[in-house]
Amino acid sequence: MIQQTPVLRMCISCKKIYDRKHLIKITKDHKQGIMFQKGMGRSAYICKSKKCYSDSKIKKKLQKALKTPLGSKFIDIFEKEITSYNYYPNKGI
Ligand SMILES: [Zn+2]
Repeated sequence: MIQQTPVLRMCISCKKIYDRKHLIKITKDHKQGIMFQKGMGRSAYICKSKKCYSDSKIKKKLQKALKTPLGSKFIDIFEKEITSYNYYPNKGI
């Protein structure tokens, strides 16, 4: 029997460790730029708690984590993405 080991990652906002499944992954893809839940490159994780993703400093934190400047449109896209993920019922949280 194969046992799945949960992949643990830290939320860049609250610094809590969560199972990868409960986090939103933001990646600075080498070719395509900023991507959500996919892409190859430097990544940052944010948990689905509203306190974290709607943090006023989240953009700064992400810029630091991804080591890249984020445009003003980013937060709009980011919020849209993150609320659409929140739309699906969470398991375990
Ligand atoms: Zn968090």
